[in-house]
Amino acid sequence: MSIDKVSHIGIAVKSIDDRIKFYQDSLGLKSTKTEVVEEQKVKVAFLELENMRLELVEPTSKESSIAKFIDKRGEGIHHIAFEVRDIEEVFLNMRKAGIRILGDSVSKGAHGSKVFFTHPKDTGGILMEFVEEVENG
Ligand code: ZN
Repeated sequence: MSIDKVSHIGIAVKSIDDRIKFYQDSLGLKSTKTEVVEEQKVKVAFLELENMRLELVEPTSKESSIAKFIDKRGEGIHHIAFEVRDIEEVFLNMRKAGIRILGDSVSKGAHGSKVFFTHPKDTGGILMEFVEEVENG
């Protein structure tokens, strides 16, 4: 399997504008621009650490799974994302292992990346995202 590292930890927030101040002002982290990811019905901003990032995820619709998560459990850690080299290979490995994949396909993530999520019930209660970064250009 070609999993390189933790790409980011996803944190569900009601409002990026409200929450980002803590990370910028109190923790001194630099943030990327906010980006809407239509496919996931969310808005995201990344905070840069040396080897990984934090992803603030705000729902843009009540139908968003992030909105449902916040309704049920409140704001907080939502998912852990692993960076992979070949997302199709990892996808097939998960399928072979009988791990359910949310939406049953690879879809578009932030900044043109390819992503999929596995079902938390099949992975010990942790929502996992797998990300293949796509070079810009
Ligand atoms: Zn993520």
